[in-house]
Amino acid sequence: MGKKLFIKTFGCQMNVYDSARMADSLAPSGYLPTDSVDDADMVVLNTCHIREKAAEKVYSELGRLRLLQEEKLQAGGGKMLIAVAGCVAQAEGDEILSRAPYVDIVLGPQTYHRLPEMVEDVSAGGSGPVIDIEFPAEDKFDHLPEEAAPQGVSAFLSIQEGCDRFCTFCVVPYTRGAEQSRPVSAVVAEARRLVATGSREITLLGQNVNAYHGTGSDGKDWGLGRLIRVLAEIDGLHRIRYTTSHPRDMDDALIEAHRDVPQLMPFLHLPVQSGSDRILAAMNRRHTADEYRSLIERLRTVQPELALSSDFIVGFPGETDAEFAATLRLVNDIGFSQAFSFKYSPRPGTPAAAISDQVPEEIKRDRLESLQQLLRAQQDAFNHAQLGRTLPVLIEGSGRQPGQLLGRSPYLQPVHFDGPDHRVGYVADVCIAEIMTNSLRGTLALPEAGDPALRRASV
Ligand code: SAM
Ligand code: SF4
Repeated sequence: MGKKLFIKTFGCQMNVYDSARMADSLAPSGYLPTDSVDDADMVVLNTCHIREKAAEKVYSELGRLRLLQEEKLQAGGGKMLIAVAGCVAQAEGDEILSRAPYVDIVLGPQTYHRLPEMVEDVSAGGSGPVIDIEFPAEDKFDHLPEEAAPQGVSAFLSIQEGCDRFCTFCVVPYTRGAEQSRPVSAVVAEARRLVATGSREITLLGQNVNAYHGTGSDGKDWGLGRLIRVLAEIDGLHRIRYTTSHPRDMDDALIEAHRDVPQLMPFLHLPVQSGSDRILAAMNRRHTADEYRSLIERLRTVQPELALSSDFIVGFPGETDAEFAATLRLVNDIGFSQAFSFKYSPRPGTPAAAISDQVPEEIKRDRLESLQQLLRAQQDAFNHAQLGRTLPVLIEGSGRQPGQLLGRSPYLQPVHFDGPDHRVGYVADVCIAEIMTNSLRGTLALPEAGDPALRRASV
């Protein structure tokens, strides 16, 4: 009992959620989370395979852990177990063990409910490293204990996993497996537990979250729009978000939820990847640039406040200057409040990696720079447009200065303002007075009236 667990998470929000659930699953074995790797009896690297850089980081991290493991052993501190979890483990399990034979456990994203048994096996000694990168028939969610620690004001909840879309650049269908949705009742029960432990905002997660089709109370498949309506009935849940979506899976019910459900925030991360129809087809995205434009128009018609975010890939194999220019045109046409952009990274085993016409690195770099310049300008313009507006801000905690609170606008912008700290978890109306590089600063609206400024708390 009383052992310490250090988890380092790479990559997406689903990995953040998975790391918390791995910690939950090890709690009954006596492992308590620590923030310091030096104290740890066990280290889990929860890894990301989406781009080459992300995968390579794991091996350099393992090199550092090996030294720590040896130092501890020599100092009589016992054996520090090292586990590699997540998508690199799934894709490169054997390679990890040959490049880093001091690793004790390798487990894929679908087997982390079995982690306690694996720890027991390696702790008993004699068995050598344990590797479990199956796609088991059982659902890991049925075998995980309930959440052990509260997630805080803003929480993640995985509702869907895996992906059947097979975009030609992407490893997810291979590392996370086929798409699977959790039943509505399991999602609602977890959401209720999160709210009961203080969460006021829930971000529903999935690799392709709007492909959600969990079994509902009537035994039929429910889509994400219907699920969101049910979640919105939970008392005390002020805000609902979801990520990441595919444009082809935005159905009418989900679009209508953006119109009808006030708890659903007017912010949407909807990756488009490219503005060129030829590249979109080569990526197997199954929509055109104009279809994306029309979809955004429909969404903005039902929810005029909607702000948009997206993902872009530059330098997909064969991308010409004209095709890249089409991406810049699309960005100019839509206008994003923030976005993520990446240089194409060939991933072993994906169809695009086998295309001979790879774009030279320096062209990718130049394209990324021009795209990011444009996206940054749009983000700055969006932030400046908030100046003088009063925004509802969900208070997540204290700011850096005494008396300061930190929260988020509906558009995910961090907002600092002065206010009473017992109001964490409430939604306050904040008048935006200053635009900083990465955050906004404001003042509580109607500060002299005290609580009325927080009247949206029960939204
Ligand atoms: N499911 C989401 C979708 O449909 O777009 C994306 C999930 S993926 C984890 C996040 C982002 O990583 C993608 O949207 C894409 O922009 C980027 N990405 C995925 N594979 C990539 C690759 N091989 N090279 C560069 N970026 C990549
Ligand atoms: Fe990857 Fe998203 Fe395409 Fe699925 S929809 S293959 S997760 S980029």
